[in-house]
Amino acid sequence: MMWGLQCPLRLWRAKRAPRVLHVLDLHSPAGQIHEHARRMFPDGVRIPQDLSWEEALVQSAQAMATARVVFRPALEFEGLRIRPDLLLRLPKGGWRLGRVKATTKLRAIHLQELAIEHHVMTQAGIPPAEVGVLCISRRYRADKDEPLLRFVDRSAKVAALAATLPPDLDRLRDILAQESAPEEPTGRRCRWPRRCPYLEDCAPPSEAELPTGESPQAQLHRRAVEQGCLMVLPGLLERLEHDGRTSYLDFEAIAPAIPFLPGLKPFTTLPVQFSVHHRAPDGTLSSEAFLHRDNTDPRPPLALALLKALKGEDPIYVWGEFESKVISKLAVTNPELEAELRALRLRIVDLQSLARSYAYHPDFMGSWSIKRVLPALVPGQDYGELSVSDGGQAVLVWTRMQHPSTPPEQAQVLADQLLAYCGMDTLALVHIRDALLQRARLGPEILE
Ligand code: SF4
Repeated sequence: MMWGLQCPLRLWRAKRAPRVLHVLDLHSPAGQIHEHARRMFPDGVRIPQDLSWEEALVQSAQAMATARVVFRPALEFEGLRIRPDLLLRLPKGGWRLGRVKATTKLRAIHLQELAIEHHVMTQAGIPPAEVGVLCISRRYRADKDEPLLRFVDRSAKVAALAATLPPDLDRLRDILAQESAPEEPTGRRCRWPRRCPYLEDCAPPSEAELPTGESPQAQLHRRAVEQGCLMVLPGLLERLEHDGRTSYLDFEAIAPAIPFLPGLKPFTTLPVQFSVHHRAPDGTLSSEAFLHRDNTDPRPPLALALLKALKGEDPIYVWGEFESKVISKLAVTNPELEAELRALRLRIVDLQSLARSYAYHPDFMGSWSIKRVLPALVPGQDYGELSVSDGGQAVLVWTRMQHPSTPPEQAQVLADQLLAYCGMDTLALVHIRDALLQRARLGPEILE
């Protein structure tokens, strides 16, 4: 039903073609925070996730008869099923209904989730006495005596929201019963706060809207789609041509929900890995890589290795603004290397911004993600074969790799996967620049 409040079509699709959204990974921020919450209440009883619904109901009722804390109890009222993150028996009587969130900021969706749970508990005859979210304290630091999780009480707001639910729930039940899909336009809710798993069904990429207007870029997009090939605007050649060596850089970073270094706030970005490719003037390719393998501070060794790998004056191609930002922060945290790091930053050329301003291929389908641009410009090249295929997965793999419980042989396998993924990113940059340069040399598309 929660999905139905976000979009009735999503609920309708979920009933007919359920899709697994995600399994909570213990190394993900959410997994770590849930684990931390469980450790806060060692006497808590956890209802296993993999039970049948009926079995979960039985075990939940048994636990709620005696336990002080119950994690993930199963509750139901008139077909509405819920699995709250936690119920805590209060000394004054009644239950505190809580969600556990790996966030420092509460969002409307958290209150909606709680409102449905509040509604079901109330209708089932156990109205919660308190309702809120156990979330990360912004004040938490690894070296300070501050609890990681704080309870944010939202009892009044959630109760008010829950009181408005019944008409919505009746409407959603009707929608679920109907044979034909409800008509719902795509919009921001399809990607925020979480990407809808039915996005490709509702908005196939081939239907990406063409830009209107008369800007050179809009005209270029329309012309490229008409002609079915890569087209570029005047000016690209001058920005890409370079006689000497060229370099290509990509970072991978983590942003741990539970910081492990003194003084760091939750979710502080820490670069842990980079890949560099060089193309010599004769076309020869070479590469270098750095991977931090434990939970010590990665920034000093990474900054030194980066300066060594990128000695020289040549342009450094990157994709997007992230690398530039990381280097700026490294200059702050490594003051003895500040001048050299700032000089490095001046050599950066954002290839994504150049592609966005000067080039279009119909297969970009309105996206400048490197994973969309690479196969469009260099057919046959993509990330398909790699065990790690996106940044989110890379964070999980790095976290697992350096965890003390991971055996060394497995850690090495994970390290190799990370090195292959990051190396693929910089090789992609080499191929993309080559393809753009080759096309720019043929002459730009002239727009009247
Ligand atoms: S993609 Fe958007 S419109 Fe389609 S079901 Fe999901 S939220 Fe609804």
